[in-house]
Amino acid sequence: KKLPADTNLENFPRQVSNACFSYVNPTEPLKPELVHVATELAKELGISNEEINSEEFLNVFSGKKLLKNTRPYAMCYAGHQFGNWAGQLGDGRAINLAEIEHDNKQWSIQLKGSGRTPYSRSADGLAVLRSSIREHLCSEAMDYLGVPTTRSLSLSLSGNQVLRDIMYNGNAAHEKGAIVCRVAPSFIRFGSFEIFASKGDVETLRKLTDYTINEFYPQFESGTKKGYLNFFEKVAENTLDMIVHWQRVGFVHGVMNTDNMSILGLTIDYGPYGWLEGYDPDWTPNTTDNQSRRYRYGNQPQIALWNLYKLANALYPLIEEAEGLEKILNNYQTNFEHEYLQMMRSKLGLLKEGDSDKELIESLESTLSLAETDMTIFFRNLAKIPKDLKFDEDDLSSLNYVIDAFYKPEELEEAVQEKWKNWMKSYIDRLQLEGLSDEERMEEMNKVNPKYVLRNYMAQMAIDKADNGDYALIDELYLLLQKPYDEQGQMEKWFTKRPEWARNKVGCSK
Ligand code: AMP
Ligand code: MG
Ligand code: MG
Repeated sequence: KKLPADTNLENFPRQVSNACFSYVNPTEPLKPELVHVATELAKELGISNEEINSEEFLNVFSGKKLLKNTRPYAMCYAGHQFGNWAGQLGDGRAINLAEIEHDNKQWSIQLKGSGRTPYSRSADGLAVLRSSIREHLCSEAMDYLGVPTTRSLSLSLSGNQVLRDIMYNGNAAHEKGAIVCRVAPSFIRFGSFEIFASKGDVETLRKLTDYTINEFYPQFESGTKKGYLNFFEKVAENTLDMIVHWQRVGFVHGVMNTDNMSILGLTIDYGPYGWLEGYDPDWTPNTTDNQSRRYRYGNQPQIALWNLYKLANALYPLIEEAEGLEKILNNYQTNFEHEYLQMMRSKLGLLKEGDSDKELIESLESTLSLAETDMTIFFRNLAKIPKDLKFDEDDLSSLNYVIDAFYKPEELEEAVQEKWKNWMKSYIDRLQLEGLSDEERMEEMNKVNPKYVLRNYMAQMAIDKADNGDYALIDELYLLLQKPYDEQGQMEKWFTKRPEWARNKVGCSK
C-alpha cells in the first residue's frame, strides 16, 4: 500500500505481523517538569537521591532523552474487551525504554503517555495529569498493601496540552499532559499470546512463550508440552493469588480485559479502578460498564477465570491436548474457594479452621450489604471487639465497636440492627475457639485489614491541588500509603468515610 509522503514510518498506526513489538521512540515533551518520584522504588532500582535530582533523571523519565545503547519499543498484543474479541490493540501509549538489573532483580522500564506508537490506532498516545496521578499513587499503594502490582517510579508533566472529553461534564477540554514511568519485571499480558494464536502464527507464539518461561518462569522447561502446561498452571495460580488480594483490600480494577491481565499475575493498568467504600459486591467504578457490571467487585474472581480460559485457548496450539488445560481451569474454582476462605478467616482474626466458618463469612457478607457499611473501617474496627463481650437480650453494645463504619448509623433499621447483633454473637462465640488474646488477635487482623487505602476522594483532592501546581498532597498520600497497616497518629484524618460530596464521583482513566 502506498503511504503518504510525510508518514512517520516509526509510529504510524498499522497492523503488525510476526512480531512481538515494534521499535518506536518517545515523542519529545515540550517542557517536562517532575511532579513526584517514588523514592523508595528508586532505591530498589539503584537510583540515588543525587541522580533523582539531576536533569538527566527528568530527561530520561519524561522521554526527552534516550539512555545510551537503548532502543525503545512498543509491544504488540490483542485482547478480549468486555467479553468481545477486539483484535490487535498493543501499547498505544506505552513505550518500553530499557531493561535494568539491580540486586539480582530484573526490571522493565516503561513510559506511559509519551506519544503515538504503531498501536495507537486513532488515539493520541498521551495521558493527562489526572489519570497519571491515579496510576502513580495507586501502583505504589498496592505494592505497600502487599498486592502484586506493576510499580510507578515517577510522574512528570510533559508541558503539552492534551484534549480530553471529561466524563464529569461531558465537555471536551484541554488538560495538562503527563508521563508516568512504570516499572515491572515484565509487561507481557494474556493478550500478548492471544494475538498470535488468533492469526495461527504458532512460530511467534512459541517464541514468546519460550521467552516468557525462560525469563520469568525458569523453573519450567520451555519448548516442551509439559513445560507449557506447568507454565499455564502457575499463571493461573498467580492470577488467583492477585484476585484474592484484591478482594481482601476491596480493590476493584474496573477493566479486566485480557489485554489488562499480566502474565506475571500483577495488577496492571490503573484506569477507572476504585475501592469499595460501602461494601457492595455489585459495585464497579467503571461508568461505561454500568449496564452489565461485568467488572464489579463480586465478579472479579469469575472474570479472572474467564480470562484464563482465553489464555488457555491461546496456548492450546503449543499443547494440543485439552485435558491438562481443563484440569487446571477446573481446579481454579476449588482453589479460589479455599484461598478466599483462608483470606476471610484472616480478616476476622480466625487462625484455626472452624467447621462453620464458611457460613459465618457468608452471613457477614450479606449483613454488610444491608446498610451502607464502609469495608475498610468495618474490618479495622472489628479488631477492637473484646472476646468476652456479654450479650443481653436487646443489648446492641457490640455494634458500637463498628458504628463508625455505617454511613448512616442513625438510620439503621431495627431488623438490620437485629441481624448485626446476631452476627456479632456468632462471631464472639466463634472467637472462643481461638487461643489468642484480644491484643494478639488485633495485631494479626491489623496485618491484613488496611487502615488506609487510596479512596477516590483522596486521589481527587491530590489531583485538584496538582492542577494548580501544588504537589504537596501527592507526597503526603505517597508517604501515608507506604504504611497502610500502621496507626499513624497525625494522619488519622484519612481514616474516615468518603465525604458526601464524593459519592458517585468516580475517577476516569483516559
Ligand atoms: P485500556 O482500556 O487502557 O486498557 O486501553 C485499551 C487499548 O487502548 C490499549 O491498546 C491502549 O494502549 C489503547 N489506548 C488507551 N488510551 C490511549 C491513548 N490515549 N492513545 C493511544 N492508545 C490508547
Ligand atoms: Mg490497557
Ligand atoms: Mg489504560
